[in-house]
Amino acid sequence: MKNCIFCSIIKGDISAEILYSDDRVLAFTDVNAQAPEHFLVIPKEHIATANDATDESLMGSLSITAAKVAKERGFAEKGYRLVMNCNNDGGQTVSHIHLHCLGGRQMTWPPG
Ligand code: AMP
Repeated sequence: MKNCIFCSIIKGDISAEILYSDDRVLAFTDVNAQAPEHFLVIPKEHIATANDATDESLMGSLSITAAKVAKERGFAEKGYRLVMNCNNDGGQTVSHIHLHCLGGRQMTWPPG
C-alpha cells in the first residue's frame, strides 16, 4: 500500500531493526519503545485494522511469532503484554495492523 510506513519497512525502503521475517509476517523493534522490550509483529499483506482481518491463520501467526521472538529474546518466561490497537478510540496511529509485544518490566492495569 502506497504511503504506508509499515509496507515501506516490508519493502526495505525504510530501515528497521528486523527481529524475525518469514513469507507472511515481519517482527521489528518499535522505534518509540514503551518498555525495555517493545517490538511489533505485522502481516506482510496490508490490512488496515483489526476490523478488516479475515485470515484466522495469519492473525494467529502474529501471536505465535510474538511468543517465538519473546522466547528468543529471553523475556517470555517472566512475561509480556500483547496489544493490538484498533482505530481512533483504540489508539491506532499506523493503519497497517500490528501486534505490540511489550516486556522487560512489570505492566500495569488498566491500560491508559
Ligand atoms: P499504534 O499506536 O498502535 O498504531 O502503534 C504504532 C507504533 O508504530 C508506535 O508504537 C510507533 O512507535 C511505531 N512506529 C512508527 N513508525 C515506526 C518505524 N518507522 N519503525 C518502528 N516502529 C514505528
